[in-house]
Amino acid sequence: MKVRFNENEEIVNVIREGLEKSGGYCPCRRERIPENKCMCKEFRDQIADPSFEGYCHCMLYYKEK
Ligand code: SF4
Repeated sequence: MKVRFNENEEIVNVIREGLEKSGGYCPCRRERIPENKCMCKEFRDQIADPSFEGYCHCMLYYKEK
């Protein structure tokens, strides 16, 4: 299992800027709740799921099996 940044640097930069502006909350979500702090709960659950492979919701990260 490996978690890496999206291979597309432009996407990574846009999401990182969004995270800076939001104070670390997921730029793709409206609610400012602890579960939405990056890495959000959804992606942490996906990392913990051995059958999951793919991008996080914002496409900042990619989880390889
Ligand atoms: S892991 Fe991805 S989807 Fe989750 S908060 Fe961070 S950028 Fe958003």
